[in-house]
Amino acid sequence: MAENVTEKQIKTIELPGSLTVRELADLLEASPIQIIKTLMSNGVMANINQQIDFDTAAIVAAELGFEASMQQLDQLETQDTGEVPLWRQLIASEDKQNLKPRPPVVTILGHVDHGKTTLLDAIRQTSVVSQEAGGITQHIGAYQATHKDRLITFLDTPGHAAFTAMRSRGAQGADVVVLVVAADDGVMPQTKEALAHARAARVPMVVAMTKIDRPNANPERVKQQLAESGLVPDDWDGDTIVVPVSAKERTGLQDLLEAIQLVADNTEILANPDGDIFGTVIEAERDPSRGVIATLLVQNGTLKVGEIVVVGTAYGRLRAMFDFSGQKLEQAGPSTPISVLGLNDVPAAGEPFRTVETEREARALVSERSEKEKQEKGQASGSLTLEGMFAAFQAGKVRELRLVVKADVQGSLEPIVSSLGDMKADDKVGQIGVHILHTGTGNISESDVALAAASKAIVLGFNVEADAAVMRQAEAEGVSIRLYDIIYRMTEDVEKALKGMLEPELKERLLGKAVVQQVFKISRFGKIAGCRVTEGELRRNALVRIVRDDKVIFDGELTSLKHEKDDVKEVREGFECGINLKEFNDFKEGDIIQCYVRELVAVQ
Ligand code: GDP
Repeated sequence: MAENVTEKQIKTIELPGSLTVRELADLLEASPIQIIKTLMSNGVMANINQQIDFDTAAIVAAELGFEASMQQLDQLETQDTGEVPLWRQLIASEDKQNLKPRPPVVTILGHVDHGKTTLLDAIRQTSVVSQEAGGITQHIGAYQATHKDRLITFLDTPGHAAFTAMRSRGAQGADVVVLVVAADDGVMPQTKEALAHARAARVPMVVAMTKIDRPNANPERVKQQLAESGLVPDDWDGDTIVVPVSAKERTGLQDLLEAIQLVADNTEILANPDGDIFGTVIEAERDPSRGVIATLLVQNGTLKVGEIVVVGTAYGRLRAMFDFSGQKLEQAGPSTPISVLGLNDVPAAGEPFRTVETEREARALVSERSEKEKQEKGQASGSLTLEGMFAAFQAGKVRELRLVVKADVQGSLEPIVSSLGDMKADDKVGQIGVHILHTGTGNISESDVALAAASKAIVLGFNVEADAAVMRQAEAEGVSIRLYDIIYRMTEDVEKALKGMLEPELKERLLGKAVVQQVFKISRFGKIAGCRVTEGELRRNALVRIVRDDKVIFDGELTSLKHEKDDVKEVREGFECGINLKEFNDFKEGDIIQCYVRELVAVQ
């Protein structure tokens, strides 16, 4: 009867982007056999450890009386648009009928040494149509390759770990991310980080499985790891195209370009070539003879020589324009990378530019910006704290609380992620949810802070630490790090932050003390204090205070710590050690050394 149908209970369940048959069985409280049978009846043959994607899992769930929705972590495409880069918002505000297809802008991300640079070079050498035989190919941070008579713009951003922030900007500016994973090494920490960047920027991904020529390449293992990270390969019925390539032997490159175009064709990659002119700075430098050279990516409109460009607090009339191969250009349309001469100052990479009609307008804009920058500098530092976030929520600027979560072991990470992921709060404007950008085990690293800074997130640590260098970086970038050793304190704080009730508190934690017993003079290093640890421990890169006659005579970083002749990370109570400080050289016997860290902690 109809009544029975409406009364039949439909339960709701959240499922991740991919999971194994066993995990699905657990979640649905069914036996794995039942799941396998249901999959079979839908034409999918799977064993108990096989990964299935969300769509497949949702079908199984539906047959067992569940309505499935995708977990927060993978809901990126459907999330609100609070963090959509400015250029995308501007293009979206153009009149639809004026929008024309433009070449996709691609950025290559991945773990160090997995072959990003080699791949970019191989594509450049095989697929760049050189306008002039023997023409100089200069490195301007971007180039355009041709595949089947269509252009693809590659951003050639450095792949070094120190460039995390820049890489994330790369993801912001890109339409497609190529995630490089070496077939002989698999998914590594920076692969996951890159994945988090691409997800945070809501950019579709293609996986290039590089070094496939290596004898120890293990593509199946890599695919398994990718699936575990939520990128289920297409030949496993998932949505992620995984292309095996060898940059060394030049195989698979055309397939990769094909895959990029396929993914690009599934997204609307449009701009108005006759609209307002704007774009983003890829890189810039000052050349001693030619002045400021900036590489710009035009994202809308058509930029011409002679036009006046304003970028940040730099401006100028463009004297000349070159394409990536050094050819002179008179104009450049959407998705074209160009290097330009004529700006009066070096703009920052990632900064948006636009054109104005007159130099006077440019000057007015720049002076207004410099003024604003000065005013905002003080306020900005507070904006990435849990406290500052609430103000941003209320102003409608941010509609989610973004988190980077680190824990000591996987076992503690899982309950944290699942309890945080579900949190929501209502405020005047609507609902605020938690968006976990990245999770991992181990101490908080500089790249965690860089990711948090680039995506306006907060770093939460459970049973982990952040060393002094990381703390300093966090301070400089205005990122808040919160450390906990009790899970419910962490969840309580996040809840408070969502409700806007949190008070900040900066606390110091003493790690240990030592007393100077002897002072050695070593000409190469200056003075070394031979100490005995009397309490707790001394830790390299933590902060130290030197106390003499009850007065603090130095406060700074513990730069070098030795036990006997070896450099060590820490020395515990009862042991002897040698200390050398970069900024202090005046040790005396009897000086007390206090070693401490500075942490932001929750109000108890
Ligand atoms: P990046 O740090 O990701 O830019 O990595 P690189 O492009 O510098 O490559 C790291 C190392 O892997 C270099 O020694 C490359 O020669 C090597 N390499 C890169 N791609 C391939 C490949 O397809 N096959 C083989 N055998 N080696 C590769």
